[in-house]
Amino acid sequence: MSEFWSPVVHALKPYVPGEQPKLTNLIKLNTNENPYGPSPRVLAALQQQVADTLRLYPDPTGMALKQAVAHYHGLTPAHVFVGNGSDEVLAHTFQALLKHEQPLLFPDITYSFYPVYCGLYGVTAQTIPLREDFSIAVEDYARPNGGIIFPNPNAPTGKLLALEAVEKLLQHHHKSVVVVDEAYIDFGGASAIPLVKKYNNLLVIQTLSKSRSLAGLRVGFAVGHPDLIEGLERVKDSFNSYPLDRFALAGAVAAIEDEAYFQSTCARIIATRDVMSRGLQDLGFEVIPSAANFVFARHPQRDAVAIAQFLRERSIIVRHFKLPRIDQHLRITVGTDAETQALLKALKALP
Ligand SMILES: *Cc1c(COP(=O)(O)O)cnc(C)c1O
Repeated sequence: MSEFWSPVVHALKPYVPGEQPKLTNLIKLNTNENPYGPSPRVLAALQQQVADTLRLYPDPTGMALKQAVAHYHGLTPAHVFVGNGSDEVLAHTFQALLKHEQPLLFPDITYSFYPVYCGLYGVTAQTIPLREDFSIAVEDYARPNGGIIFPNPNAPTGKLLALEAVEKLLQHHHKSVVVVDEAYIDFGGASAIPLVKKYNNLLVIQTLSKSRSLAGLRVGFAVGHPDLIEGLERVKDSFNSYPLDRFALAGAVAAIEDEAYFQSTCARIIATRDVMSRGLQDLGFEVIPSAANFVFARHPQRDAVAIAQFLRERSIIVRHFKLPRIDQHLRITVGTDAETQALLKALKALP
């Protein structure tokens, strides 16, 4: 604490990211990283950027990446915004599109960065409780609002909302921006991006951190009506002209262009997720059906913190949230087959 802090800093409750331990021999199932490395084409593209051209600023518009994303989804670069991780894209979205007179709505159990951005930008929010089975019921959002945001699949539950329900929300709230944070959509859900041409109030945000295996490169993007994108650009150009460096732009374009690698790694993770879910159920865990690269599970007789501690002593780290309704759950990232077998073997030895 310091007398020199701005008033807003005193009131901030910053996001606490999952641990990135220094130890290298851990089975790291706590931050939903991809267990497979990025495409070899990404690594080659990055190596090309180790060059004299680093003395020059990168393209401030990130046009090559906008074009790659637009081409992939059958849209134009004017429909695409790019940023330094989807967390930065989300931050600009809160400031540019979600701060209004009426409260922003989001689920009570969701990505814990949303309330942090509300605190940073002074956005009033109202949380809408998930139903008993942790599902989002779109009719619960039928109230005055200045915007709606949720991850699909939701985090940390992994539960998918059907595209028809997303569309209902867009129709019912045509005067509000509806933001769908699709950080995990490539692991089994249907993206809302095809609805962008039909609904000018839809903004879809995706990241290259999970399904494209580039958490270390920091690249995310948003897709929406050009008027929404222009709002984001105005905030971005009032903050940082060059959020994506030469490496990030080159690596991200190569990742989006390597469709075969992307499809095969996603398919492997989905297959392993199903093995992991069944394995956990066989051990007595209740597992929420997951459409993501993690599962959210609880054991009816064993304390979640005690399980996490037991695993940690065996060099396996998973994520626990000390929050209402979910403090007996664990979020476990889908690793390789070998890591998953090690996890199940360790859990089998629970006292
Ligand atoms: C991981 C995650 C993000 C952030 O992704 P980055 O692009 O790495 O910043 C955003 N939203 C949700 C729901 C996530 O789980």
